[in-house]
Amino acid sequence: MAFVVTEKCIKCKYTDCVEVCPVDCFHEGPNFLVINPEECIDCNLCVDHCPVEAIYSEDDLPDEQHEFLEINRRLSKKWPIINEKKDAPNDADEWAKKDNKKELLEE
Ligand code: SF4
Ligand code: SF4
Repeated sequence: MAFVVTEKCIKCKYTDCVEVCPVDCFHEGPNFLVINPEECIDCNLCVDHCPVEAIYSEDDLPDEQHEFLEINRRLSKKWPIINEKKDAPNDADEWAKKDNKKELLEE
């Protein structure tokens, strides 16, 4: 099992989650973060730190977010590790309220 970042994070990227991860398994892309499932130790710490509730355990993933399992696995091999919080984009609060953002994911 691993934890998975889902659609809510797209264009939000508050990065609160990365500071609590004990094994640095978050990776950052242009407008989204993913978790490396090979490194995640299922500690659950990041879940409560995400202000938009974007992080789920693999076992609790809503059906419509299931494709993010593969997206996290694939993009964590490509994107660099992020382990320090940074400023969110100026329009993050606006995007945090929106759903159906999958097509906006930049790889
Ligand atoms: S705290 Fe949540 S929304 Fe922000 S970067 Fe982490 S997973 Fe994405
Ligand atoms: S569950 Fe723990 S190890 Fe996995 S991404 Fe979250 S903080 Fe990191």
